[in-house]
Amino acid sequence: MPDTDLQHLIRLLSRLPGLGPRSGRRLALHLIKKREQLLLPLLEALRATAENVRTCGVCGNLDTRDPCSICADPRRDDHILCVVEDVADLWALERSGAFRGTYHILGGVLSALDGITPEDLHIERLLRRCSGGGVAEVILAMNATVDGQTTAHYVASRLQALGQNIRVTGLAHGVPMGGELDYLDEGTLTTALASRGVL
Ligand SMILES: [Zn+2]
Repeated sequence: MPDTDLQHLIRLLSRLPGLGPRSGRRLALHLIKKREQLLLPLLEALRATAENVRTCGVCGNLDTRDPCSICADPRRDDHILCVVEDVADLWALERSGAFRGTYHILGGVLSALDGITPEDLHIERLLRRCSGGGVAEVILAMNATVDGQTTAHYVASRLQALGQNIRVTGLAHGVPMGGELDYLDEGTLTTALASRGVL
């Protein structure tokens, strides 16, 4: 039977996303066995993260500086805002290297089921950023889920109501690169066909 320190660690690890008590126990044992290679460096990384990482007051990104390194970068085009649900989505777009504008993190999506209303998201902050006249285009890069698309429509209508002539766009939905038609669901195929383009 693990002693209380170990039990506490296992309980905390079990609360991480995708893990449960069993994986919590396995992780705790693994960390203890790899004390020098993993446990102590992890301890240091957790401490540094807790002390240094903050939320950017402009876009909501996580960084050791505020404004974050993207907002503060003069090479980024701040006339184009890309609105994403979460920091993980920003990271995904940054990995692609395809976007040179700036971001706005909503902090989630509207959800009747989970009781998430517009007030729970960073929508007002987005409207404030856009009301100054410096934003030419807002890309709504929400996930292709029902809640994601509902949120995109809601944000689009609020942006249009600003009367700033902002171009509001959305990501294309369709056949993924390397995707085979036979493996796609009907919704993806229907959307891909509806948004077909000239080659
Ligand atoms: Zn930022």
